[in-house]
Amino acid sequence: MSLVGERFIAVRDKATAAYQQATGLSAQPHVLCVTKMQPLDRILDVLEAGATEIGENYLQEAVRKDVFGLRHDWPVTVHFIGRLQSNKYNPVLRLFDAVDSSDQAFLEKVVERRGDPGIRASKFLLEVNAGGEAQKGGLTVTEVRALAAVSVPWLRGLNGLMAVVPLAATMAERARLYDSVHELYRDLMRQLGTAQFSLLSMGTSDDYELALAHGSNMVRVGTAIFGPRTSTSL
Ligand SMILES: *Cc1c(COP(=O)(O)O)cnc(C)c1O
Repeated sequence: MSLVGERFIAVRDKATAAYQQATGLSAQPHVLCVTKMQPLDRILDVLEAGATEIGENYLQEAVRKDVFGLRHDWPVTVHFIGRLQSNKYNPVLRLFDAVDSSDQAFLEKVVERRGDPGIRASKFLLEVNAGGEAQKGGLTVTEVRALAAVSVPWLRGLNGLMAVVPLAATMAERARLYDSVHELYRDLMRQLGTAQFSLLSMGTSDDYELALAHGSNMVRVGTAIFGPRTSTSL
């Protein structure tokens, strides 16, 4: 087994222990391997070790590496987790299986194009900017609550939420932010009442065990599995 494969298994085992401890369930959390700025051979290492979900941030890089071609040989789903630009909506919808960093404008477009056979993507998470950082994408918890109160149409198509927290936040601050997103998630789950709303993506290399202890059921781990990223997009 490769070093990267061994690190994937170690992360998956720790994530499983944290999730089972927090929930009392025997199920496993989703472990999304974040493969941005990682070459294809390292991605193959995690697939050989049993990974089934990968996440990319840049459309062009994902196309160049042809991560989509991996689906011919591996049972893997490819998630988009980067900044969405409106001129990239079509290729993102055509190529990716899931869009975890969805925003309001994108989700409105998805509703408009429902039933379009050119769309592959079938899972959509709304990005939540838990720390309210101006330079980051995503709606704040308050903004999502305001939209839920008027019941905007695209909410019903959601499969869950993806929270991002400030890099500089302490573990105590992150715990508080994760709790607030978890509370929002549970309220939306109750309001929507759809079985498909079931994913709460919170936690990265630094804090995935903490996030799982505070309600996450999907973690996004790059560096702790693959080591440092190359300095530029591949
Ligand atoms: C890059 C990235 C990650 C992975 O971060 P690591 O610290 O390498 O685990 C997770 N989520 C998003 C949205 C990212 O852009």
